[in-house]
Amino acid sequence: METKIVKGIVLREAEYRESDKILTVLTESGKIIVTARGVKKPTGKNLSLSSLFVYSEMTLNLQNGKYYLAGGSLIESFYPLREDLERLSLATAFTEITSYLSENGEDAAFMQKLLLNCLYFLCKKEINIDLVKAVFEAKCAEYSGFFPEFEGCDLCGEMTEKMYFEPEACELTCRRCAEDTNAFLQVNMNVLAALRYIGANGLLKAVKFTMNERDLRTLSNVTESILCAQLGRRFESLDYFKKLRI
Ligand SMILES: [Zn+2]
Repeated sequence: METKIVKGIVLREAEYRESDKILTVLTESGKIIVTARGVKKPTGKNLSLSSLFVYSEMTLNLQNGKYYLAGGSLIESFYPLREDLERLSLATAFTEITSYLSENGEDAAFMQKLLLNCLYFLCKKEINIDLVKAVFEAKCAEYSGFFPEFEGCDLCGEMTEKMYFEPEACELTCRRCAEDTNAFLQVNMNVLAALRYIGANGLLKAVKFTMNERDLRTLSNVTESILCAQLGRRFESLDYFKKLRI
């Protein structure tokens, strides 16, 4: 029997049989399915390693092409997420998006690092939740293709006090060039500056700025629309998070 040691975070847990769990685990080299046998028994070991969001060093046994959890040590449980419904539901959306973006093993290391950092930010109450969401979405969009520069109107180059963003085409236009402003997201100078700041900085610096709540909401609407337009899909858990906040 082959044994393997991996550092992984649980993206999904499903009950299986009476006392087992089937885990989707993101490692640096890709997603794997791990069966955690007997973890729900009163005597079961490894329960602390078999919950959603838990990051640990896992010892896995490989039998007939399947991974079984043999043991391991907890690195981070992200426990504070379980004490706040909004943060919990956003963290769940992060895991769904991460799972989608790490189908290709080559992207797993980047996505694992991004997810771990953003879950860590979500555990910090002093960091605004919309800011964490915007930074996560912007970095996902940038990594999986493209994040706009927001330097001026895409049609004439001008910058007016109010600008308009059209998510489908990822196009920023000024008041004069915007034809049907009803379909556009209106963005002010604060939001544009924040979008440029996030685009220009690494993850740890990108979450370090303050802005009023209303502009932060707009910021996170823009980053979400960029990501969803780019991937050509929406995420159920992200829609659920938005419903919670209306
Ligand atoms: Zn223009």
